[in-house]
Amino acid sequence: MAVFICPRCAHRAAGAERTEGHQPRGCPRCGFGFTVELMDDYYAGPLTALVCCDRDRRVLVAGHAATPITGWPEHALIGCEVSAALGLAFPGAPDDPIARALEWGVRVLRQPCTFRPCGRDDDRDAVADIFPAYDDDGGLLLALTPVTKG
Ligand SMILES: [Zn+2]
Repeated sequence: MAVFICPRCAHRAAGAERTEGHQPRGCPRCGFGFTVELMDDYYAGPLTALVCCDRDRRVLVAGHAATPITGWPEHALIGCEVSAALGLAFPGAPDDPIARALEWGVRVLRQPCTFRPCGRDDDRDAVADIFPAYDDDGGLLLALTPVTKG
């Protein structure tokens, strides 16, 4: 069953719950304007930053944990190309997993990556889970989870 996740608060709702009430597309917990459909359930941990992009990779929402994890306030990220905005790199990846998710419409999970938090001059290790959107807008949801070295 499809699951819908709120990019703002990471609340998950099953597809059946989504059609109840009068806010079928918004988040039933925080009231945010839209949720992202996932083909399989996904749990975003407290330290997982959720970022939504459009099909041109421009940030639409820097949501759940995005500011605490990246240091960037949401207004500084919106409209920016996501990899550039987050200092995101996928060393060793055979291709750009964000492009793969967008072009093939497939989710790309557990991609090792680095990102550069705001105000830092060193990169942090993380893993990225990338989910294509299934609506007509054709964007994606990026879930970025830092990993501790050592
Ligand atoms: Zn929400």
